[in-house]
Amino acid sequence: MVRCGVCGSERLGPLGELMTDSRVGDQRHLSLRFPRPGLLRPRPEYWARQGRACLSCGAVTAFLSPAELRRHRADADQLVEPEQPPD
Ligand SMILES: [Zn+2]
Repeated sequence: MVRCGVCGSERLGPLGELMTDSRVGDQRHLSLRFPRPGLLRPRPEYWARQGRACLSCGAVTAFLSPAELRRHRADADQLVEPEQPPD
């Protein structure tokens, strides 16, 4: 049984298409981005096109598609986390 990662509830809604209401460009899906691994390397980016809401607390969990997940798994060891902003 899948549980909500926030409150632990088993009451999860169906998988839906995850969109933003951004009017900037045509990138209307959410993406998970990482800093460039080098000057001439593209910025790693993985699209999360589906999501599921918890029917108890309302937390929304985003999911990578199977193809994006394979790509993310293959790259994961080389990805760098963004620097934290100073406190
Ligand atoms: Zn929840």
